[in-house]
Amino acid sequence: MPWSVSLPKFGNAATIFELQQLPEGGMSVNILFATAEAVPFCKTGGLGDVCGSLPLELYKLGHRPVVALPAFRQIYEAGLPIVSTGVHFEIPIGQKRVDCGILESNLPDSAVPVYFVQNDYYFDRPQFYGERGEDYQDNCERFVFYCRAVLELITQLDLETELIHCHDWCAGLLPVYLKTVFNETAPYDQMAALYTIHNLAYQGNFWHWDMALTGIDWKYFNWQQMEFYGNLNFMKTAISFADTISTVSPTYAKEILRPPLSCGMEGALEHRREDLFGIINGADYDQWNPAIDPFIEPNYYDAESFVTGKRACKSAVQQEVGLPVDPEIPLIAAIGRLADQKGFDLISRVMQQWAEGEHAQWVILGTGDSKYHQVLSQLAAKYPHRIAVRLEFSNELAHRIEAGADMFVMPSQYEPCGLNQLYSLKYGTVPIVRATGGLADTVVNATAENLALGRATGFSFSEYTALALGETLFRACELFADKAVWNRIVTTGMKQDWSWNASAQKYSELYEQTLSRARQGALS
Ligand code: ADP
Repeated sequence: MPWSVSLPKFGNAATIFELQQLPEGGMSVNILFATAEAVPFCKTGGLGDVCGSLPLELYKLGHRPVVALPAFRQIYEAGLPIVSTGVHFEIPIGQKRVDCGILESNLPDSAVPVYFVQNDYYFDRPQFYGERGEDYQDNCERFVFYCRAVLELITQLDLETELIHCHDWCAGLLPVYLKTVFNETAPYDQMAALYTIHNLAYQGNFWHWDMALTGIDWKYFNWQQMEFYGNLNFMKTAISFADTISTVSPTYAKEILRPPLSCGMEGALEHRREDLFGIINGADYDQWNPAIDPFIEPNYYDAESFVTGKRACKSAVQQEVGLPVDPEIPLIAAIGRLADQKGFDLISRVMQQWAEGEHAQWVILGTGDSKYHQVLSQLAAKYPHRIAVRLEFSNELAHRIEAGADMFVMPSQYEPCGLNQLYSLKYGTVPIVRATGGLADTVVNATAENLALGRATGFSFSEYTALALGETLFRACELFADKAVWNRIVTTGMKQDWSWNASAQKYSELYEQTLSRARQGALS
């Protein structure tokens, strides 16, 4: 039976960006995930979580995903077997021809293949995208190489591929290659491209002469396609050439159409609004689940085990990070990239204001801007009994903090989806968020009405000010003292299902839409 749905168009309805119908007997699609990050091989943030989890869910739904990553130095740290395929070829980069090898592995405990495009000059480096706060100078060249190598590996390995699911700017040139350089070459002429924006602010914006590295005709370097204020812009290119575009929450999909969150892309996105969708990310409950988490002791899973479990995990993490062990004082956590986006200026200000009082303890885990490293270390040194700061990337500690903290704070300037609030809900760690993007879509504010209706799962505020954050945290700390109310908020959150299942079904539907739009495009 031909499978068709009525796709909601951008309009006035509240759910305009949601794909509302699930596939009925939808067909299996051969999908290539083009991404710079996928757990457990390489991750700097949510992109890695999504691209490690979503292919597994799609596989369960009957699709045939493969993942293509750069062979970064860090991929070997996952401890999974990575072997050479023995396949080597050359990639044209400007006037040069550059060697590329292909390595392979699998997503853990699965039949989902992962291929790595290898060139040690480009990818065997201490970091993924840059060092000491500076991007690598040759990032354009590195990811031109990546995009072309991914296309080449499809034919070299004879991978059946119907759709390339491209993620963020690093994979942003794949759609334009499909629609220009390779548009008359089999099998590429039959492939569709979906482009997912995980964060519109990171665009891959380069000097215009880098266009020469791409091998793409200069005629496409114009304001409607690849050019952005005189530069070559990977994000804009992908928005212009992909068959469909998605982003990682319905609210963010609306926010990016207007400044300031459009980051200059309002024109390009407006042009594609009929093809733009918002699908919320899921949480991987095989990794983030207090009932089975191997990094915490004891495990807990329901209202009853939560009380003793949280108390034990809290005292363990207080000990681990050097805070006084105290079950009564609220322990507030933040984990993430130390970037302006994440609201660490507001967090630092409230910590400073509260440090002399008895309101709360804080534990912060993150790496990023040196200005935040400095401010946070100074606060921790000055108030060691109130503030603990760990300036590192530690997955294990992130799990223990999720389990041990009472509240998780995310006062983001903007948040495309956000994953930590989803993990926090599962761990009974009440999220305190600014109502933006995916945070607005996933946390139900503890207003009097929502509390009475038993649907509150956290606390949210709108204005991006330290005052608004401080007031919201104060409200949360007051309710924390009322254990009956607090435990109801906790258990409502713990019962929510933010697993990948529902989102993967929506991606299924979007793949079908993407394939049909690509076919229409090819005919027109
Ligand atoms: P973003 O992708 O914008 O950085 P997300 O909330 O979508 O933010 O995802 C961040 C992911 O990275 C989460 O899984 C979070 O736990 C993890 N993470 C960020 N910083 C650290 C850190 N310093 N140590 C461990 N995990 C971290």
